[in-house]
Amino acid sequence: MLDSVRVRLTLWYSAVLTLVLLALAGAMYLLLARNATRSTDSNLSELADAFLTTVDAELESDTSLPGLVQASREAIAEHRFRDDAFAVLNPDGNIVITSEDSPGNDGARREFPREIFTSESFRRFVQDAERGRHTYGNVRGGRDGYRGVVRGFAVGSSEFTLVVLQSLHRQQEMFQGIVRMFAIVIPLAVILATAGGYFLAKKSLAPVVAMSTQAGQISASNLHERLKIRNESDELGHLAKSFNELLNRLDTSFEQQHRFMADASHELRTPVAILRGEAEVSLSRDVRPQEEYRESLAIIGAEAGRLSQIVEDLFTLARADAGQHPLVKREFYLDELVAEAVHSARALALDKEIALVCESCGECPFFGDEELLRRMVMNLVSNAIKYTPRGGNVSVACRAAGDRYELTVADSGHGIAIELQGRVFDRFFRVDTARSRADGDHGGAGLGLSIARWIAEAHRGSLELTRSDANGSVFSAFLPIPRG
Ligand code: ADP
Repeated sequence: MLDSVRVRLTLWYSAVLTLVLLALAGAMYLLLARNATRSTDSNLSELADAFLTTVDAELESDTSLPGLVQASREAIAEHRFRDDAFAVLNPDGNIVITSEDSPGNDGARREFPREIFTSESFRRFVQDAERGRHTYGNVRGGRDGYRGVVRGFAVGSSEFTLVVLQSLHRQQEMFQGIVRMFAIVIPLAVILATAGGYFLAKKSLAPVVAMSTQAGQISASNLHERLKIRNESDELGHLAKSFNELLNRLDTSFEQQHRFMADASHELRTPVAILRGEAEVSLSRDVRPQEEYRESLAIIGAEAGRLSQIVEDLFTLARADAGQHPLVKREFYLDELVAEAVHSARALALDKEIALVCESCGECPFFGDEELLRRMVMNLVSNAIKYTPRGGNVSVACRAAGDRYELTVADSGHGIAIELQGRVFDRFFRVDTARSRADGDHGGAGLGLSIARWIAEAHRGSLELTRSDANGSVFSAFLPIPRG
């Protein structure tokens, strides 16, 4: 049960609420008790003052003990209320008179049994007061004890003591009432708040439960499904949105993967079919002229070469996608690499009577993976030669432009239709599939430019088709010039 966020939230909430309510009730109780004691003390003090004033007035010149007893009676009769009691003690600490044995009191006051004035607690209270420990204090006895004040006063040459007691019974009753109220109100408030909290937690977590149910139903086969967003601007809406964005990315990546697999198998199927076809034709008769065997083997050789090129390209892209293609970086000159690549492509250009030139534009020191960059330049140069008609021109240049090198390969081919220009870097994209295929080894798998672009980006650069029209195309690779 504690595994549920809803239950945990509710329990935390209830525990905190209970603690807060208990602390509040405790603080309130203490505050009330302190104020009640203060007000009792000031009440007692006023009573003692009033009593002594009356005694003083009644005594006049008679300072004998009977005179004091008589004056005390008068004062008791005047000042005694339901909750108060008085006692006058002689200098030896013995009782001279108490409010409970004066006339008019039949001794029936429940709050003040006569024994209270002879109790141990009363005596200790008076003694402590006389020793100057305190003026106010508590006396045990009766139903809930008493609060008392002690005052000394002189009659003639003798020192007497006045003790005024107030019963704490009514105060205790009030406090018991408050505690009873707390004992009912606090559990009730906690129960109500817990029920409300549980309901609220359930209501606010319901979308999460719905989302997790929906998410649990999404698999590779229905990756296009999305979570329903009830309120885009709340936290759960944000969560659902982020989850949907994640699904979008996964979906795109799944689709790309799927297309990649489909395209790859399609690309591989053709050369394999040609290989099988050639082999079957060659073997269909026991003996063939040597010419025919040579011709078949040449086709098989070319297709095997094409096949291994496609496999190599696929492997490169797969490793690049997984971020597992390491760059073996070292220092070299980009202009030299371009010159070498142009040199190796000369035979291809000669075959098609294409004028291949390399513009020398000064030294371009670079730090990167020389092999990969050579592959990028070769892909661009061989494409330029491939897609330029016989007798055309291809020029390659490498120059520093600001904080980057610009490596351009320009040709005088037919260009690429404007609506297809954005797609030439897509994997397996070929402008004219039929022609590529028919051209034998001219027909690439449509992976060359994807790989070239990845190589440029892996060096924190870019590869773009900067111009393509009826006069030819220009591909430009931009690579950052290493600092220092
Ligand atoms: P491929 O192996 O088919 O050449 P690429 O990825 O290198 O694959 O090129 C993708 C497509 O872009 C090519 O099939 C071709 O149609 C087009 N293309 C590439 N370079 C050029 C160019 N210099 N001139 C015209 N079209 C080009």
